[in-house]
Amino acid sequence: MPDRAPGLTALVLGAAAGGGFPQWNCGCRLCRLARAGDPRTRPATQASVAVTGNDVDWVIVGASPDLRHQILQNPSLWPESGLRHSPIGSVVLLGGDVDAIAGLLVLRERQPFDLHAPQPLLDLLEDNRIFAVLDPSLVRRKAIAPSEPVPCGGGLMLTLIELPGKVPLYLETRGAATAEAGPTFAVRLEANGRSLVIAPACAEITDAVRQELGRADAVFFDGTLFTDDEMITAGLGEKTGRRMGHVPVSGPGGTLEGLADLPGRRILLHINNSNPILLSGSPERQQVEAAGFEVAYDGMEVRL
Ligand SMILES: [Zn+2]
Repeated sequence: MPDRAPGLTALVLGAAAGGGFPQWNCGCRLCRLARAGDPRTRPATQASVAVTGNDVDWVIVGASPDLRHQILQNPSLWPESGLRHSPIGSVVLLGGDVDAIAGLLVLRERQPFDLHAPQPLLDLLEDNRIFAVLDPSLVRRKAIAPSEPVPCGGGLMLTLIELPGKVPLYLETRGAATAEAGPTFAVRLEANGRSLVIAPACAEITDAVRQELGRADAVFFDGTLFTDDEMITAGLGEKTGRRMGHVPVSGPGGTLEGLADLPGRRILLHINNSNPILLSGSPERQQVEAAGFEVAYDGMEVRL
């Protein structure tokens, strides 16, 4: 039995955005430093957070393509009894991008669990036959709707939150000049009087976003890019952060400014390998820390 008072525990399985850090085909400065083992860098897998309210069963938020490796790295998620067992009772999907759903494919092997996702994401799985490897009689697909709390195991209540966002890249109209607005999803998890929000993507910090996040004891928030034009400046892409549905960390309307007054812990998650906050001691990292924000890393444990 757990030997401490029940609370709410989050374990960062992966802190990086799509591609991870370093990204397999990326020759940017940061990826090169990470590959060379520079002590200022810490390699990171693609974003996923495990949460529990009873220290026994876990809910995984985000099914990253690195999920198999992430489970192997975290003994809390290992089988405990019998020939087939997993402490993972639920998986929650928030986005339809490859880095948020491909991990489902490593959870085959006839293991029962609940799969919670907004209906559009369940439809997406239904339309892609490869996800039929998850036998529906074992992996129960449960639609969740914004603002309707549901129990999800691990002693937790789960509430879907809708944030400003855009449709996944591969579902966009080819060549579209502007982002196609669509909701991005976040989730609030509550147990034992504590709560946290996991929001790996958010296109804009509105008053409603601030209000929603302000109620949580901790917030894992979109830390994809430090500056809006980071990908363009680094020669890595043609799109701004906002165009990709991610508000930048810095600058006017950015996260440091928008979430400056949040009372709970503020932890940046889903960090792209171009983002200089991945380099400890960098001016950008110092700016983030001076503003009271934390930078997530693989294996980070947050107890509330
Ligand atoms: Zn890179």
